[in-house]
Amino acid sequence: MTYRGRFAPSPTGPLHFGSLVSALASWLDARAHRGSWLVRIEDIDGPRTIPGAAEDILATLERFGMHADEPPLWQSRRTARYRQALEQLQAGGLVYPCGCTRKEIADSLLHAHARNTTLAYPGTCRSGLHGKPARAWRLRVPDGDAAAITFEDRWQGPQTQNLATEVGDFVLRRADDQWAYQLAVVVDDADAGITHIVRGADLMDSTARQIYLQRCLGVPTPAYLHVPVVTNERGEKLSKQNGAKALNTGEPLAALSAAARHLGLELNTAAEQPTLESFYAAATAAWATQMGVR
Ligand code: GLU
Repeated sequence: MTYRGRFAPSPTGPLHFGSLVSALASWLDARAHRGSWLVRIEDIDGPRTIPGAAEDILATLERFGMHADEPPLWQSRRTARYRQALEQLQAGGLVYPCGCTRKEIADSLLHAHARNTTLAYPGTCRSGLHGKPARAWRLRVPDGDAAAITFEDRWQGPQTQNLATEVGDFVLRRADDQWAYQLAVVVDDADAGITHIVRGADLMDSTARQIYLQRCLGVPTPAYLHVPVVTNERGEKLSKQNGAKALNTGEPLAALSAAARHLGLELNTAAEQPTLESFYAAATAAWATQMGVR
């Protein structure tokens, strides 16, 4: 097997400590497997993208010594592929147009909640638009037990999610004419031949959807590893939205050592004056031992 891994930041701000942990974990896993490591800029969500943030993230990765093996890929340049994938699903009758507004969905969920049923999209438009204009495209998920997706996470262990009861038919093309993250990620990972996905555990909840979508598109399912997320003192996930501080890019080794500690890595650095090179050698060895990579 030729290992191909990736780091896929959304350019909504500069790299912060949480995203450094994901970048480092994916980099170390690729090195431990003697594989390739790619970077993909997830700038598909136009309204959330901050001008200059992608260039800033790429410069920080370089400065920290994480060099990608191929030029970065930009989601904003790949919309033709997302359209093709949607057309493939349309031709197979696997998706349907949805005319529900957020308010209508919220109202029906409230009603469902009152009846103590689940909070998944109730499938209102499965049987047609009921005279409403099409707003979004949804992927139809199977009913009952067939909707249970199981996978083995290399860090978190066995996982299962029932798409019918926990998610419902999910959006691939949004009402605001944007491509949904789930579709873009699956198409990009497949086209890039990604074999191993290493990312933060906040994305665990999307994995079953992505595996189901891979099956619908007839593309392989990579191996998954979700690292523990970094939280702030209030226990919230660190994100650019809740004001996570940008990294001190003047001190790459200090930030990288903290990220390695977050991953539980025991580093044997004999070097008195550690360099990026000696740090990565020690961290890769520790990762290989911890994750059982041979
Ligand atoms: N762009 C996503 C994020 O920054 C990561 C997507 C992925 O790794 O699948 O949260």
